[in-house]
Amino acid sequence: MPRLRAVLGRLAAYQPTEGVHAAATRTRPLSANESPHGPLPGIVEAITAAASTVNRYPDPGCGQLTRAIAETHGITEDRVVVGAGSVALLQTLLQSVGDPGTEVVYAWRSFELYPILADLAGLRSVRVPLVRDAHDLPAMADRITDATRLVLICNPNNPTGTMVAREELLKFLARTPPTCLVALDEAYYEYAREPTASSGMELVEAHPNLVVLRTFSKAYGLAGLRAGYLVGDPRVVEQLRKACLVYAVNGVAQQAAVAALGLEDQLLRRVDATVRERGRVRDTLVARGWDVPAGHANFLWLRLGDASAEFGRWCTGKDIAVRTFPGEGVRVSIGCAEDNDAFLAASAEWRRREQQGP
Ligand SMILES: *Cc1c(COP(=O)(O)O)cnc(C)c1O
Repeated sequence: MPRLRAVLGRLAAYQPTEGVHAAATRTRPLSANESPHGPLPGIVEAITAAASTVNRYPDPGCGQLTRAIAETHGITEDRVVVGAGSVALLQTLLQSVGDPGTEVVYAWRSFELYPILADLAGLRSVRVPLVRDAHDLPAMADRITDATRLVLICNPNNPTGTMVAREELLKFLARTPPTCLVALDEAYYEYAREPTASSGMELVEAHPNLVVLRTFSKAYGLAGLRAGYLVGDPRVVEQLRKACLVYAVNGVAQQAAVAALGLEDQLLRRVDATVRERGRVRDTLVARGWDVPAGHANFLWLRLGDASAEFGRWCTGKDIAVRTFPGEGVRVSIGCAEDNDAFLAASAEWRRREQQGP
């Protein structure tokens, strides 16, 4: 065996939920927080048109897409970096912030890729427990030291769906030294309806150490094409652009994302429908006695503790893919109404069985 970095021996391989990617399966895909809607005709057209030029390299600077994003948010282009999914930008960010041994602070439980990307970048992870499923920003601020280079805040949080309030975020930013970056991962921001919360987009101008990550994978329905972006201070953006792998964002993805921004109104109406479904599913579960925090993304978090693994297997047995965190909970995506109904039926049956006992 040739020698590789020791960190790889310690990492567990990313485990996608079983069975979901087999095309022929009947499995209801409620494990990956994808949009249940297929691409709009205008997006398929953009993809088809872009397909005829794949013998050429894509625009390495993602010029057209960068302009479209800047226009959408009313910011200058020098504040935007495009990446092959926001996960690729998270990787760039973690590789860029600190030399080995420096620290990244994030809440736990949060997005499962944070520890993996931190380990790969050689950063030390400082995990701050959630309190009632939500970020404890004062405790996170307490953990910032001279060694801290980055604080990651997933807002809404994956997998619990909670949000940080604007006031708390501002207090946190005021306590963070200007030399330490703060990244708000807003992969699900379009689904948020919490009046006390606010997007980092409104705060980047006043806070040069703040960056915001957004993605085309969820609300914009382009998970399969891989496109996301980061917004921040132009001086930070200039450096991060150098750290991105050149040509990483393919031309088909760039054109589809431009088309998606052009069709934003229609796509956001689909998001409204998902938000209504989220309310319906949660209300039903709560009425049946489940403990489900109000979710602000396109999924719900079932705090099942020790019963999580068994409930996850129960759903798999009913051909419903969910995301199980053994010992903690189960995350179920909001899908199409039919899939959500199937999940509600399966969960009701599980509960009846539990109450009857063995
Ligand atoms: C889904 C998700 C992303 C988006 O990843 P892409 O690489 O853009 O598909 C980013 N952050 C979190 C927390 C997510 O759940």
